[in-house]
Amino acid sequence: MHRERVSDNVYWFQSNVYAQVTAGVVVGPKWAVLIDTLALPEESIAIRDFVERELQTSIRYIINTHYHADHTWGNCFFPDATIIAHTRCSELLYERGIPALNDAKKRNSALHQIEIILPTMTLDDGELLLQIGKKHLKIIPAPGHSEDGIAVLVVEDRVLFAGDAFMPIPYLPDGNIEDMYAFYENVREMSLENIVQGHGEIILRGEVEPSINENLYYLNAIEKAARTALRRKSPMDFLASQDVEKCGKSRIHLGGLAAELHKQNLEFAYNTALKEVDANKKQAR
Ligand SMILES: [Zn+2]
Repeated sequence: MHRERVSDNVYWFQSNVYAQVTAGVVVGPKWAVLIDTLALPEESIAIRDFVERELQTSIRYIINTHYHADHTWGNCFFPDATIIAHTRCSELLYERGIPALNDAKKRNSALHQIEIILPTMTLDDGELLLQIGKKHLKIIPAPGHSEDGIAVLVVEDRVLFAGDAFMPIPYLPDGNIEDMYAFYENVREMSLENIVQGHGEIILRGEVEPSINENLYYLNAIEKAARTALRRKSPMDFLASQDVEKCGKSRIHLGGLAAELHKQNLEFAYNTALKEVDANKKQAR
C-alpha cells in the first residue's frame, strides 16, 4: 500500500494489490474520518493501524463513496465507526453486496473475515456538511459511475475525494453517461487543488482541467464509436477495432485493467444507443 500526505491532516492511500484503488483519511483534534476502505482486509487494517499507532487517533466516521466492493468491504474492520453514504448505497450493499460477498467467500478464503456493514447515516440528493476541527467536509452527490455515488470536498484545502466518478478511464456499465458529463462540469467549477480519484494517482492542480477535458473527450469518443457501430453490418467487429488509444487514452496503469474497462464501456455505450434507436422507432409508429 502507498501512503502520501495530501495536505495538513489529509492522507491518501493506494492499493498496490488491486487496480490502484484509493482511500483517504482526514484527521481532526479528537477523531478522524476515513473515506472508503481498500479492497483487501490487510490493506484496510493497515490504514487502521497507521491511524491508531502513528496518528494516535481513531476513525469515528467512514464515508463510502459508493457500494462497490473495493470501496466498502473494509467497513467491518472499524466496528466503532458510523458509516455515511448515499441511501442507495445502503440499499445496493444489501441487495447486491451481501450475495456477492457470500459468493466470493466460496472462491477466496482470504475473505472469510469480511462482513458487509451497512451505512446508517445516509443522504439522498442533498449535501451533508461534517465539521472536523477547523476543516469542513462537504459531501455531495457524484453519480455517473454508479447511481449512489457521492464525493467529499475538503472545503478549506480544495481537495476533492471523487470516488469512482473520477477515474483515469471513466467506467460506465453500472452508471449513466449523462450524469457523468454533468459531474465533470460541476468539478470544473470547483477550483480544486487536487482530485483524489477512486483509482489511480492524485490529480494535481495544473492537471485538473486537462484531466477533465481528456475524460470528456473519451466519453464523446465512445459514444461516437457506439453510433458508428449501429450503422455497421457487424457492430461487434467495429467496436473491437476501437481500442483504448483510439479513444484518446493511453498509458493507464490500473493494474492492467484499462483495456477490459474500455471494452465494457464500448458495449455499454452501444447497448444504450441501441435502446434509444428502438425507443425512437416505437415513438414513430
Ligand atoms: Zn466503483
